[in-house]
Amino acid sequence: MGEQGRAALIVPEGNRVTPVKVLVIGGGAREHALCRSLSLDPDVTALHCAPGNAGIAEVAEVHPVDALDGAAVADLAAALGADLVVVGPEAPLVAGVADAVRTRGIPVFGPSAEAARLEGSKAFAKSVMASANVPTARSYVCTTPAEVDAALDAFGAPYVVKDDGLAAGKGVVVTDDLAAAREHALACEQVVIEEFLDGPEVSLFAVTDGETVVPLQPAQDFKRALDGDRGPNTGGMGAYSPLPWADPKLVDEVLRTVLQPTVDELRRRGTPFSGLLYAGLAITSRGVRVIEFNARFGDPETQVVLARLKTPLAGLLHAAATGTLAALPPLRWSDGAAVTVVVAAHNYPGTPRTGDVIEGLAEADAVEGAYVLHAGTKRDEASGAVVGAGGRVLSVTASGTDIADARTRAYEAVSRIRMAGSQHRTDIAARVS
Ligand code: AMP
Repeated sequence: MGEQGRAALIVPEGNRVTPVKVLVIGGGAREHALCRSLSLDPDVTALHCAPGNAGIAEVAEVHPVDALDGAAVADLAAALGADLVVVGPEAPLVAGVADAVRTRGIPVFGPSAEAARLEGSKAFAKSVMASANVPTARSYVCTTPAEVDAALDAFGAPYVVKDDGLAAGKGVVVTDDLAAAREHALACEQVVIEEFLDGPEVSLFAVTDGETVVPLQPAQDFKRALDGDRGPNTGGMGAYSPLPWADPKLVDEVLRTVLQPTVDELRRRGTPFSGLLYAGLAITSRGVRVIEFNARFGDPETQVVLARLKTPLAGLLHAAATGTLAALPPLRWSDGAAVTVVVAAHNYPGTPRTGDVIEGLAEADAVEGAYVLHAGTKRDEASGAVVGAGGRVLSVTASGTDIADARTRAYEAVSRIRMAGSQHRTDIAARVS
């Protein structure tokens, strides 16, 4: 490991906090990517995950604890003597799991339930952005049919209609069809209707301790189920990083105009945000605009961003959890690229078929530069086979010298995996220049 990871684990008084025992909460490919990076960090002496999945079980000790039960997670962290708890998904954050752990005096990477409202409520996010002067789509928050009709009329097509609550990326309808837009809006208790943003999308993650903001490298994901960006929206079918087409000044600009003002505004409101601030951005003809904020690492972008991060992960997350990010040396990144292709179950994003046997995992891992991250998988008790247990089943990730190289390796690995009825896009990162 490099000098930087060691430096990151020195607290201001100069006390080393190593060795570090880490507990990761969640059980998707994002958590597998986090666990993989943490398992490669020599400062991590013990790695635990709850509830985990079949792949995570190979790099961490997994515990059958409900990720949404704050008291149970805090009990587990205390029993394990964890020095750092990393909360992966949004639902535990909104449920206050990070608060429950923090109350026990255990450093936790992840915002409070109050601050996680930045993701949990689109109306709250809009109000923070308005106060902080952060560029975003103009919008109306509507609760009555009359307000809905007025808002749809004001913006015109394409219509953008967002359920004001957590919907795992599936509560947003973008359509030219006024009747469909209206129907979705009226099915929601409270809805945000906003202007359509043109231009490519970028996901930019930042690690923050509530004051200092450290941006990571940008990535792009593919939300639609089918090739050519057709079909229904999903949690994400693939991703790549870096973005060769993006302005090299983009990260600095977003830090200055979006990330730092948002973190400052939340601190000013008395609800400081520490953890991972994820800005979903549109690079429009009129400049950068925020589409949404998330309060945690994005999936599948995390898989490609962490594939390129050379700074050991535990030190970075621990510095955020303990308010010491300002002392962290600059992050180090690989010059190469990474591509992730998601393998999903039959019928995803509808109700996925589960229980299909997955074969060829070792052969896929054997592709140079590639590795398989598990999402919805579990080990069948009786047969010992790894079987599908969710919609998105695997995130096949590869590093390479450039995007084309990483892409070739990722698809070679995907081709070695066999699972009845599985589906994946064939055009992830295909037209990137
Ligand atoms: P969200 O859950 O807010 O990220 O929205 C999910 C997806 O809907 C985004 O990634 C975009 O592809 C699309 N979307 C959301 N808001 C807009 C907008 N104002 N204009 C165009 N597309 C949007």
